[in-house]
Amino acid sequence: MISELHQKLIKQEITATQLVGEYFTRIQEKDQEIQAFVTLNKEQALAQAEKIDDKIKQGEDVGILAGIPYAVKDNILVKGLKCTASSKILENYTAAYDATVIKKLNQAGAIILGKTNLDEFAMGSSTENSAFFTTKNPYDKTRVPGGSSGGSAAAVASEMSVFALGSDTGGSIRQPAAFCGLVGFKPTYGAVSRFGLMAMASSLDVIGPLAQSIEDAEMIFKVISGKDLMDSTSQDVPVPLNKIQKTEYRIQDTVFGLPKEYFIKGLAPEIEAQIQNTIAKLQSQFATFQEVSLPLTPYALPCYYIIMPAEVSSNLARYDSIRYSPITNYQFPITTLRDLYFKTRGQCFGKEVRRRVILGTYVLSKGYYDAYYKKAQKVRRLIREEFNEVFKKVDFLLTPTTPTPAFKIGEKTSDPLAMYLSDIFTVAANITGLPALNLPIGFTKDNLPIGLQLIGPPNSDFQLLELAKIIEQILE
Ligand code: GLN
Repeated sequence: MISELHQKLIKQEITATQLVGEYFTRIQEKDQEIQAFVTLNKEQALAQAEKIDDKIKQGEDVGILAGIPYAVKDNILVKGLKCTASSKILENYTAAYDATVIKKLNQAGAIILGKTNLDEFAMGSSTENSAFFTTKNPYDKTRVPGGSSGGSAAAVASEMSVFALGSDTGGSIRQPAAFCGLVGFKPTYGAVSRFGLMAMASSLDVIGPLAQSIEDAEMIFKVISGKDLMDSTSQDVPVPLNKIQKTEYRIQDTVFGLPKEYFIKGLAPEIEAQIQNTIAKLQSQFATFQEVSLPLTPYALPCYYIIMPAEVSSNLARYDSIRYSPITNYQFPITTLRDLYFKTRGQCFGKEVRRRVILGTYVLSKGYYDAYYKKAQKVRRLIREEFNEVFKKVDFLLTPTTPTPAFKIGEKTSDPLAMYLSDIFTVAANITGLPALNLPIGFTKDNLPIGLQLIGPPNSDFQLLELAKIIEQILE
């Protein structure tokens, strides 16, 4: 998709201004119903497009992403644009600087169409926790697009954007990608700078692309990844040897692990069948499959739901309604600081955010810290070791991305635990920091997308993408 658009742009069959204009027309036509965007960036986008057009006209060598329109999850800062995290507490906040990923994409000439809806502060799996509205799944508008990067996924899936940026703390790129039939890539922890991403759980958060193909995702990843002085946890991921030597990656040399704990009761039969179907196709290309076991799998979700809220409670302490976007028109008298906190944090944070702040504060409190937080950290280490062991036997892991296809709007809103369970297959990659992606592999009989998850060893991002590209071709 991106390379085709790039060819058209440099051959001057279409101008960047026309391309961007076309996407805004689509947004106008479709977004009233889909509700993927919270803020549009039309004037600036068109101005940027003109600059790219000038460069192309003058015969300048523009990069592959120059003039390509994209959307940004509204928890990533873009200077001069509102950044709300879909929360009332930041309703009027305008970003004062660009996130590193935005700076890099700007330099590459990519053009921001707007900011997309999410579950408040990225906490959720459906966008129903947005303080503004629920985004609809383009495949069935009575269903959720997934979350928390649901606006980004819906925007790309309904062709209102070429690609989008999301963030993934427990599955928020892969799960909406699975629900919307897209490629969603969660890089190795630290492979992409978090500078300018509103922190949810800093030891788990990572930014990545939602795109129409693996090739697109790889192009975007190449631009946004790398060590950044503004994020001390960032690092360069190595480019694999076969890429440097320009030799081909061979599917017949690949050993896939099928963790038996991921093929369990509760997995929708249609998803299971489609995955078996994919495995058979890969076997016909001489890929090797091996059943493996990750016995700690049942502990991944509970471990995540201790560590994540602990970090959330600490990260969200900064929203005191004085900094970032002061709330000035108080409907109530404020006499003490305590009053201010109670009334602003109590009223401007949604239910799910408050639940996690309270849970996190609890597990970090004296007397409970050892029993919950410290224990969860130990379990985290054990889970990491378990994955390391498995990767001594197999090259990549192949699992479903989600236990079910996209669910109905409202279906899980009254049951937080049911909602949390939709992350059951995705959280381990965040706990371990491993790279993982969703690859669309088909549809249910109701025409809902089905996704496959591939998980790779640490820093294997480029190999993972290459392998996924081959699988994508085989499935075509
Ligand atoms: N759905 C998960 C949660 O609610 C993951 C969120 C995310 O990855 N940002 O925490």
